[in-house]
Order: sequence, then C-alpha cells, then structure tokens
Amino acid sequence: MITRVDPQRCTGCGTCQEVCPLDVLRLDGKEKKAVIRYPEDCQTCFVCELECPAGAITVGPFRKERPRIMD
Ligand code: SF4
Ligand code: SF4
Repeated sequence: MITRVDPQRCTGCGTCQEVCPLDVLRLDGKEKKAVIRYPEDCQTCFVCELECPAGAITVGPFRKERPRIMD
C-alpha cells in the first residue's frame, strides 16, 4: 500500500495522479502537492513510486494479507 508522499520532494507535477489506475492520489488544491486521498483503494502496483520523477512516493512492499477462504 502507498505509505507516504514526501511534501518536501513533491514538485506537484501530477504524474502520480495520472498514472494511478485506482485514483488514489490527488493534487492538493492550495499547495499543489500530491496527497493520498483514498489509501484503502491502493493495490500496491508500485506504478506511482516508479513514475514519480522526484522520488517522493513510498509504497509498502507487501499487499495487506487477505483472509484465507479455504485450507
Ligand atoms: S509524481 Fe511525484 S512529484 Fe509529481 S505530483 Fe506525484 S508525488 Fe509529486
Ligand atoms: S501503488 Fe498503484 S494503486 Fe497504489 S497509489 Fe500507487 S499507482 Fe495507485
């Protein structure tokens, strides 16, 4: 899951908002920095972390463990 956007590094370029397939990120209206708006929708695809030109995004290494349906 996405865990952090570093506001010091973020330039407000908007790339993460464009590339996220789940619409998790938004640019904050006032400061024009990326914010994690819908973290629960994140599918840990790492696209935003890979595409951010400023290296401002951190995505956690593991998906949330899902409950087992069958043994
Ligand atoms: S891609 Fe990186 S620098 Fe650009 S808005 Fe998103 S977090 Fe900020
Ligand atoms: S890891 Fe994927 S789903 Fe999660 S915020 Fe980044 S681009 Fe969106």
